[in-house]
Formats: sequence, structure tokens, C-alpha cells
Amino acid sequence: MFIDSHAHLTSEQLLPHVQEILARAQKAGISKIVNICTDIKSLEEGLALHEKAPWVYNTAATTPHDVVTEGEEFFPYVEKAAAVGKLVAIGETGLDYYYEHSDKKTQVAFLERYFVLALKMKLPLIFHCRDAFGDLFSMADSAYKGAPALLHCFTGTIDEARGVLDRGWLLSLSGIVTFKKSEGLREVAKYVPLDRLVIETDSPYLAPNSQRGKQNEPSFLPETAEAIAKVKGIPLGDFAQAVTENAERFFRFP
Ligand SMILES: [Zn+2]
Repeated sequence: MFIDSHAHLTSEQLLPHVQEILARAQKAGISKIVNICTDIKSLEEGLALHEKAPWVYNTAATTPHDVVTEGEEFFPYVEKAAAVGKLVAIGETGLDYYYEHSDKKTQVAFLERYFVLALKMKLPLIFHCRDAFGDLFSMADSAYKGAPALLHCFTGTIDEARGVLDRGWLLSLSGIVTFKKSEGLREVAKYVPLDRLVIETDSPYLAPNSQRGKQNEPSFLPETAEAIAKVKGIPLGDFAQAVTENAERFFRFP
């Protein structure tokens, strides 16, 4: 059994097919899915989906890409859902200096607001970080020290992975680890201790190697697990059990 720690099930792309996607996920041994809501519609749909499929849990925040256009409007919805106990984490939030769809200053301002909200609501944070580890680490060290977080879809270096681990955070790997060119990321997978790893699909993005070009979905998660278990030289069952326990501990599913 596996937990998909990061999927956008109620995104525009996946929502129309969500019932079939959930059926295929169950068949593939996915026991829980963390649905990442990034706007008002995906959150409303996510909360409704949890009522029908209680093994789907929700998180919410505006991504660093969209904070300029949607951050302000969505924030009170995130606050409210958190306050009434409908979220298992706040996120994905963070910094993306690679695309910089939103300017850095606004990304930083919203990350600070999400630090405050997560601490107030006693919820963990899910970080998205690309080409911005220096700023993420220094901001967290001053405003989010010692608090729980998960670095989603990690694609950084061993040094950056060490920075994540030194802060007590979990590190999550996606289907990128199965790509032929991802030698460096497989080195990271080998390096990160088993009790600090989780896995995710980031559906509908980043389908694993054998499904490349297709829309990703939680049922594709086992391929990522197999790739990491192989790199670590441990049986798939042991790997699955460890990452499942890590996700259970982090999200404290009700
Ligand atoms: Zn995502």
C-alpha cells in the first residue's frame, strides 16, 4: 500500500475523470491521497470529494507561481478551511525563482503569511522550491524554526537535500526520479535516510518514465516507489511500509 503525498486531483485537468482515477488508484494499492488545492474551485471540489471519498485529504494554498494574481483572494478561504479542521497541511507554498511567474517580493510576502497561518493552526507546511533554497532556508530559520514541513517534488542537489534534512523536514520524490537523465536525483534518493522520505505523483504533471507524455495520476505511483527501492537496495515492501509510516506521522490523518 502507498500514500500519494501530493496530487492535484481537483485540478481542471483531473476533476472531470476523478471517479475513474480514484478507482484505478485503489486497484494500484494507493491507500490515501493528499489532494493539493490551489484555488477556490479546487478547494471547494476537494472538500466535497473528501465527503464521498474519505481517504482523500486536502491541503490548500496559492502556489508561488500565482500569488500575484490569486494570493489575496484565496487566502481567507485557506484560513477558514484550516480553522474548521478541513485541512491536513498548508501548501503548496514556497519560492520559485526558476519560472518567477510572480515577482520574488510577492512570493516572499505570501510565504511569510503562510508561516504565520501554519503555526497558528498547528498544521505542517508543504514547500515548493525551485532555485531558491538559500532564501527558503533563511526565511524558515527566522520565522518557521523547528516547525514541521515537507519539501515536495525535490529536484535539488545533495547539499540542498542536507539543508532540508538538517531542518527536520521530510523530502518528497516524484516520478522525475524514474527518468533516464535523473542520475543526480537518484543519488539524492540513495542519500536521504528512509525515515525522512515520502513519495508523490504531483498529478497531473510528471508522469513516470513508462507513462511519459500521459497525464499523470496516483495509480502510477508504484513505479516511482520501485525505482527508489531499487536505488536503495531494499525490498519494495519494506520501502512502501517506511514511506507510508512517514506520511502518516507527518499528516496525522484523522
Ligand atoms: Zn503540486
